[in-house]
Amino acid sequence: MYKYCLHCDWHASTSDGYTEREVSKEAIEHFVETGHTVDSLRLPPPVVVEN
Ligand SMILES: [Zn+2]
Repeated sequence: MYKYCLHCDWHASTSDGYTEREVSKEAIEHFVETGHTVDSLRLPPPVVVEN
């Protein structure tokens, strides 16, 4: 799994030693902290944040 930010150069990948759960968690944290949209190269559930 590879997730990356559409607004800055943030990214997280299982190839960096993260588990898929950690990648998802990092992506959500990035979104929460910055409001940036995080996209994924594969087909795991997108980051969905409900107001
Ligand atoms: Zn970002």
